[in-house]
Amino acid sequence: MNEQGNVDPSELEKFGDLAHRWWDPHSEFKPLHDINPLRLDWIDKSVGLAGKKVLDVGCGGGILSESMAVKGASVTGIDLSERPLGVARLHLLESGQNVDYRNISAEALAAELPGAFDVVTCLEMLEHVPDPESTVRACAALVKPGGEVFFSTINRNLKAYVFAVLGAEYILNLLPRGTHDYARFLRPAELVRCCRKAGLSVTEIIGMSYNPFSKTYTLGRDTSVNYLIRATAPTQ
Ligand code: SAH
Repeated sequence: MNEQGNVDPSELEKFGDLAHRWWDPHSEFKPLHDINPLRLDWIDKSVGLAGKKVLDVGCGGGILSESMAVKGASVTGIDLSERPLGVARLHLLESGQNVDYRNISAEALAAELPGAFDVVTCLEMLEHVPDPESTVRACAALVKPGGEVFFSTINRNLKAYVFAVLGAEYILNLLPRGTHDYARFLRPAELVRCCRKAGLSVTEIIGMSYNPFSKTYTLGRDTSVNYLIRATAPTQ
């Protein structure tokens, strides 16, 4: 961790520079638009979002946050990059949805509002922070006893390097070069260990794969590249 906390300023800048294109489904953010219905549906089926108090950590321009609000959740979205938050707030004017967007770290919010949320989501964010274990701990502190936490990130192995870095950034040009740093990818076993250390019990691990021929994503058993984890907080 550096003196600013668990954050890599170059990562925030990278997302800040692209922020104005966040809601363009043909932009660098196309993969997030494409995967959103799948992950939203999975989370909604797992917890029933309607009426839930949800925190979205590393919310960026708000693709997931807003879609959870559409499902009837009361959503707070946090990020440390100001421009994506600005875009997220502007998009609310267009969609008429209501999300409380704040520029604060998960660690700082955990000190302010411990145990305040029924559900915490932290998707496609852990691979951009210096200390993912600290983020997992903060998410565990933010969720209510018995609440649910969802993470998604990228596995670390040769296949993940070939698909998520070479394939997505260099061959298919789905993402700008330099989007992902292989060294920050996390194996499922490592993320499970972080969850356990934070007192969360992992109840589900699900893979997300991309088929470059049909250009579609599916959820399934293959966790070798992208995957999602569902974890539950102890009841007290
Ligand atoms: N979770 C969103 C956006 C993913 S992009 C989605 O899946 O649709 C990754 C986001 O993480 C960016 O918005 C970036 O600004 C944010 N981020 C990176 N480091 C962060 C940190 N230390 N704290 C909070 N957000 C961070």
